[in-house]
Amino acid sequence: MPLVTKIIALTNQKGGVGKTTTAVNLAASLAALDRRVLLVDLDPQGHATMGSGVDKHELDGSVLDVLLGDKRASEVILDCPIAGYALLPGNGDLTAAEVALLDREEGRERCLQEAIQSVASEYDVVLIDSPPSLNMLTVNALTAAHGVLIPLQCEFYALEGLSALLDTVEQLQASVNPSLEVLGIVRTMFDARNSLTRDVSKQLMDYFGDGLLKTTIPRNVRVAEAPSHGLPVTKYARFSRGSQAYRVLAKELIRRQLI
Ligand code: ADP
Ligand code: MG
Repeated sequence: MPLVTKIIALTNQKGGVGKTTTAVNLAASLAALDRRVLLVDLDPQGHATMGSGVDKHELDGSVLDVLLGDKRASEVILDCPIAGYALLPGNGDLTAAEVALLDREEGRERCLQEAIQSVASEYDVVLIDSPPSLNMLTVNALTAAHGVLIPLQCEFYALEGLSALLDTVEQLQASVNPSLEVLGIVRTMFDARNSLTRDVSKQLMDYFGDGLLKTTIPRNVRVAEAPSHGLPVTKYARFSRGSQAYRVLAKELIRRQLI
């Protein structure tokens, strides 16, 4: 078991690449391997919250209150007993965070880091689901994190946005977060029969080498269905290919000591 809490941001400024799906299912898979996991929903869309079986419209408090210093993280964190992890929920209120954080004179990148500091030691892993842009919320995620996992769909434009993300990571390494690491690229909605998928995979392999995680997450209808039941696929359809792939991903990350 890790002695130090590992904080990991799931980031890619492209939408629809599988960030939230990976955050929820990796959280559940790590929990099933006896890791104590906190999932932070930092996307105003609140999909990680809904996908964890929590109604984003009925929250008493959200990560926004914690970011703004109005509530302590411990007051807002919810237990998701079926999924097996704890959730710091988020919803549309988070759009206000962007403006509120930008208004701060200093320390605006560090609000999330400070907000979760008091609870982080209760968990082995903190996973942060980030919004589909490189905005102040994403900068907060990357400032709080030790590492970033990049979910990526192997399609024609997949690589285009990657350099902007890697530039942002470099900027943060040079300023607020010198120890930030790119932990790896996770290929999502993967279809090895598709030649474009194979071409993009090859480019990723050439460029990232070991940084391209071996485990691929197949496109699988059960993965897409699970959120409408408020469950990770590992609970909704345990024996599906998607569920198995997320469990293998969790094991790969542990084996390589990335988590
Ligand atoms: P992001 O958080 O990057 O915007 P999502 O995780 O919300 O992306 O995924 C985008 C869409 O693709 C969602 O409808 C989700 O259910 C679906 N999806 C993600 N991963 C898979 C998969 N492995 N198989 C099938 N559908 C998937
Ligand atoms: Mg998302």
